[in-house]
Amino acid sequence: MDIRDGNLGAYHTYEEAMEEIERVAAENPDIARVETIGYSTYGRPIKAIKISKDVDVEDPDKPEVLYMGQTHAREVISAEASLGVVDRLIDGYGTDDYVTGLVDSRQIWVVPVVNPDGSMKVAEDVTARGDSSWRGNCRDNNGNGKVDDGDGVDLNRNWARNWGGQGSSGTPGSQTYRGPAPFSEPETAAIKKLAEEHDFVTSVSFHSYSGLILYPLGYTTTPAKDEDLLRSIAENMRDHQPYEKYIAEKSSDLYVASGDSDDWLYEDMGVLAFTFEVYKGGNSWWNTFKQFNPPEDRIQYHVDNVVPAALYAAEIADDPSQALIEREERDAQGPPAPEGPRDPADYWPEDDNPYFGGLPGDFMLNELTPGYRGTDEDPAEAYRRAECEPDCEG
Ligand SMILES: [Zn+2]
Repeated sequence: MDIRDGNLGAYHTYEEAMEEIERVAAENPDIARVETIGYSTYGRPIKAIKISKDVDVEDPDKPEVLYMGQTHAREVISAEASLGVVDRLIDGYGTDDYVTGLVDSRQIWVVPVVNPDGSMKVAEDVTARGDSSWRGNCRDNNGNGKVDDGDGVDLNRNWARNWGGQGSSGTPGSQTYRGPAPFSEPETAAIKKLAEEHDFVTSVSFHSYSGLILYPLGYTTTPAKDEDLLRSIAENMRDHQPYEKYIAEKSSDLYVASGDSDDWLYEDMGVLAFTFEVYKGGNSWWNTFKQFNPPEDRIQYHVDNVVPAALYAAEIADDPSQALIEREERDAQGPPAPEGPRDPADYWPEDDNPYFGGLPGDFMLNELTPGYRGTDEDPAEAYRRAECEPDCEG
């Protein structure tokens, strides 16, 4: 394996994230333990941390909840969000009644880095050249014994529910390459096994970017069986965000994608499964990594903005139908307050831009529009392009 160790500054590398959860478990053995749930393509451990009172006991009476981060390699802030859930539960235990109640009464599993090889690849790229657009795992599609262009499977198109359908690609080298078969990748197989061994009621998979809370289904615009409940939970999650509110919407309203984790977890395992697109995105059209991940001094802000919403998944896990009542109560109070403008501190400095001042033509950077397009582009459209380019429908 020819990936070298990299450095991501204030962001955790895969190895640092694993050290972090091992440390947490060692220091809090009564409420936390780490389990290796599988191994990546190149044999790196995929680790989960379980957080619960009497953590060594599998208690069928305590609802189980799953959190995942960094399925997509370049979305490094998504690993930080997962670690933020861990931090909040550990730090709040015994001091915060809400958190203590969750840890006492739930079994919470967090997989901070679903994609260890991809994470390593991003750290290597960023260390070497300050950017990375690596999205998938590191499957050697072209069989040349190296991790290079054209390799990798999109782990969020490799799940069995409607695998091979619209919004995924059968072409190796595509950013949305679905792999040769459902669960062909050890990373998705590891989460599948975890989900089969446990009885998760709710789940949150962190991604970036766009500022969205997505609910199933993704592969079809047909309503899910529990559409009303799913929408209610997503909207209530949004209400739990302390800072910028995200948009709560059905995944396929954004774009149709097949073979994603939420659809399988929901339709095959009965998990109320959500995807958070953390961070509304940079203005860093010149740098993919900076487009997907906020400046380092803004990590904590974005983590803090999603953790309370994510913990709502654990809060309602004893009886998710309570979300319907909460939504009705909220709707009775009228529409939510409009969003304020984004904080300019969310953008990487303009002078990071190697083209700054050097590009010809008359253009503007729209505040809501990630990337230079010269027009006001719908953020959902920009997101679709960023996530799927070059072949969303391929
Ligand atoms: Zn993603």
